[in-house]
Amino acid sequence: MFSSLNLSQKANIQLDFSNEFDCEISLKPEYLIHPQVSGNKFRKLKYNVEEAQRQNKKTLLTFGGAFSNHIAAVAAAGQEFGFSTVGIIRGEELFNKVDTNPTLKFAYDCGMVFKFISREDYRNKSSLHFVKSLINEFGDFYLIPEGGTNHLAVKGCEEILTEEDIIFDYICCSVGTGGTISGLINSSQPHQKFLGFPALKGDFLQEEIAKFATKSNWNLVNDYNFGGYAKINLELISFINAFKCQNKIPLDPIYTGKMMFGIYDLIKKGFFPKGSKILAIHTGGLQGIDGMNLILKEKSLPLIG
Ligand SMILES: *Cc1c(COP(=O)(O)O)cnc(C)c1O
Repeated sequence: MFSSLNLSQKANIQLDFSNEFDCEISLKPEYLIHPQVSGNKFRKLKYNVEEAQRQNKKTLLTFGGAFSNHIAAVAAAGQEFGFSTVGIIRGEELFNKVDTNPTLKFAYDCGMVFKFISREDYRNKSSLHFVKSLINEFGDFYLIPEGGTNHLAVKGCEEILTEEDIIFDYICCSVGTGGTISGLINSSQPHQKFLGFPALKGDFLQEEIAKFATKSNWNLVNDYNFGGYAKINLELISFINAFKCQNKIPLDPIYTGKMMFGIYDLIKKGFFPKGSKILAIHTGGLQGIDGMNLILKEKSLPLIG
């Protein structure tokens, strides 16, 4: 047998949010499933790591931006399972920022080797020509796509929901590439509805999810991306800080903060039928808070506490 990512499932937490519609909201703390790297990125890696072991690969290679939760997770998984890891990072200018960028620093400390490329090259990263050049440079590797989404990743995310989650009418999840919500949808019950909250302007997402999801009980809510990927404002920062104060649960500014802001707003607007039981998946991403705080500090904005 292969050694496998050991992910510990934790009980749902009911949130304290009284509202005139008697909606109950619970949170699934996926950010607690692994001591080192929080959340869905390890779910997505579980079967990919096993497949890389099965293929006897020695190196995991993947792609990401400077604050990518996926880059951090691949670096940590590589260290845990004895793979070399290579991160192809968007932005040539970052090569001398490894010490000051918390995500890159973490990945570097896990042993990841970086290759920094221009935004233009990054757009062509899936081309056969480019992948061949990577094989020339790094030798044989197991390639994991940007954000980690493939069929094995979706399979890993089919293990997030458990039997106790049958009581929920609505299940909410932040969406980046769509892999996580696809796994959730595939493991759902017929009475359950899924709401995906894209963290970016993602017109392509509808199609991406349809590729992996085997059911149609889902919708995307596009009103809470705050202008795009990693874009935030004072209102979102205040919400994240107030949420932590009230529930003792941290949210990340890129994914889970936006989703939770959206859920609370939809409840207040009466979107959910009276008495709905809502489950929000806390997909983690907490390693991104430090990086965002560096940017907020530069702009003299309040920090995420
Ligand atoms: C990557 C990520 C997501 C989005 O997952 P996808 O499978 O790409 O849709 C959501 N939340 C967090 C915290 C993430 O890091």
